Amino acid sequence: MAYLDIPAEQSSPSHFDAVVVGAGFAGLYALHKLRDQLGLRVRVFEAGHGVGGTWFWNQYPGARCDVESLHYSYSFLAELQQEWNWSEKYASQPEILAYLNHVADRFDLRSDISFETRVTSAVWNEHDRVWEIGCGDGSAVTARYLICGSGNLSVPKDPQFDGMENFDGEVYLTGRWPHDGVNFEGKKVAVVGTGSSGIQVITEIAKKADHLTVFQRTPNYATPLRNVPADPERTAAIKANYPQVRENARKTRGGVPDYNPLPSALTVTPEERRRVFDECWDAGGFQLYVGSFQDILIDKSANATISEYIRERISERIDNPALAEKLIPTDYPYGTKRPPFETGYYEIFNQPNVTLVDVRETPIVSVTSGGVLTTDSEHEADILVLATGFDAITGPVLDMGIIGRDGETLNDKWAHGPRTYLGLSVHGFPNLFLVTGPQSPSVLYNMPLAIEDHVDFIADAIEYCRRNGVETIEARLAAEDAWVAHTVELSDATLLPETDAWWMTGGTNGKPRVCMLYIGGAAAYREICAKVVADGYDGFDVSAQRSASFAGTSSRRE
Ligand code: FAD
Ligand code: NAP
Repeated sequence: MAYLDIPAEQSSPSHFDAVVVGAGFAGLYALHKLRDQLGLRVRVFEAGHGVGGTWFWNQYPGARCDVESLHYSYSFLAELQQEWNWSEKYASQPEILAYLNHVADRFDLRSDISFETRVTSAVWNEHDRVWEIGCGDGSAVTARYLICGSGNLSVPKDPQFDGMENFDGEVYLTGRWPHDGVNFEGKKVAVVGTGSSGIQVITEIAKKADHLTVFQRTPNYATPLRNVPADPERTAAIKANYPQVRENARKTRGGVPDYNPLPSALTVTPEERRRVFDECWDAGGFQLYVGSFQDILIDKSANATISEYIRERISERIDNPALAEKLIPTDYPYGTKRPPFETGYYEIFNQPNVTLVDVRETPIVSVTSGGVLTTDSEHEADILVLATGFDAITGPVLDMGIIGRDGETLNDKWAHGPRTYLGLSVHGFPNLFLVTGPQSPSVLYNMPLAIEDHVDFIADAIEYCRRNGVETIEARLAAEDAWVAHTVELSDATLLPETDAWWMTGGTNGKPRVCMLYIGGAAAYREICAKVVADGYDGFDVSAQRSASFAGTSSRRE
């Protein structure tokens, strides 16, 4: 029996209290929370054949997280935190996938997940107050709530260069990597894209391929990750104090507690600034970005100091000055694109088997049967790897065919960029919740914690509706407009709109470039959400009352 007040005709095997899309960090936790703690009848649909989301799809060599694994992991259960051991500071993709499989097994999640099932339509039925959800395999279900745990980086871009169909070799997307691996030994390989994924995969392929040609459009400010085996003492210290560590993490901007940036790069002496940058460079990972100075993303002159520092450190590592010039970014400020991290990336360009092609100088004309043709030459390839990024943030939800009240499509509503309240809810789309949706901190916040916060918010909202006999919950238009304006105002006060990056929208046809994230930091965002709840879901319309037949029975597992 479903937990909510479902009319008899809807109490069928194909009706659920909640449908969750995706079985990554978000979908797995949402299923556990809603099913095992709220007692809801939940169905998860996942396009892939296994759990893991990002870590299921991105099985390319070199894939690993760049937030320390002791932080980049669930916090919701003390025993889970204690029982799992990470072997490296920044776990590799296989280990993160093993962790998520462990979570799925530990909480018996698989039985409520339909794998290889893509949600292709979701239509709000105003009469019955349910979502009618259709899947690629022709199946259909209804649900009171639709929860999108479909990810921000789960729809890879698949650029169709002219002549792709003529290529005699193999083509792989980093975001859809074959699970049985790819053999690069003795092969000529071409990689397009030098973002985080490209930098990781290029570094590994360079160790194996006979020849590697890297097609770079925009050089990146990649800085050292400095991965090391897990330090047992640090692990023990964090495990002994995990609740406090997590609480501290949630009070920071990015959900990791180890950063203490100084206020300004401009109010210290050049020597002191250099000392801070050197320390952060040596520490690795996000230290430079989050742990150096607070004004590097706000003040152009402050940013110039760090951008110049990174350029200098990169150039030290490349033997050929002309090549160094191509690899070093000069035309956008550091950090306005999401920083990638590297382990020996720049050194591979000193190897005789690696060639860099700057496609801004010599654009790709076409793919031929034997390789990639640019305006100045043909580069032979047996394997073409596309590390060309994602239809980020809005892509996965817009791919789902969501139609809200009065037949309005989400695609129409978001035609000029996403519009949400808190990144969680959309006016005109009742009982739809987004996990780490646009205009929330999402990818600027250690994602497992960002996900837990959102799922907890959603579960509390559903519980509030149940307790108060409320049938639908939905962002009010005024609240949504104010939230969008607030997020734009915050990002406009930074350097982010200067640069074309996957977290921005607009920037063409005279449209301003705006950030699709809430950049005020996790701590501020959490306070705003807590106040919304304390004020009785301020900004949400929770006025639609259920009929007197409201049951509210529960099948709680814990
Ligand atoms: P995902 O893991 O993307 O899962 C979404 C799932 O939804 C996918 O499995 C997808 O198949 C499924 N799906 C989507 N649409 C549909 C549909 N219509 N029907 C059915 N199923 C659907 N973040 C960090 O904080 N730190 C990191 O170090 C970090 N490293 C990353 C490395 C890579 C290579 C990438 C691509 C991203 C990284 N991220 C990182 C971001 C990462 O996406 C999140 O940390 C997190 O894994 C997102 O979890 P999720 O469940 O929200 O989404
Ligand atoms: P990305 O940062 O968007 O990089 C895509 C790359 O492909 C860019 O260099 C882009 O160039 C290039 N590109 C795209 N289309 C092209 C074309 N037609 N011709 C030539 N070049 C083209 O994507 P990503 O590398 O997959 O990373 C996305 C995000 O996922 C990251 O920022 C990060 O949040 C996450 N991630 C994290 C890790 C990690 O270490 N934990 C690893 C991988 C991914 P332009 O810059 O010119 O557009």
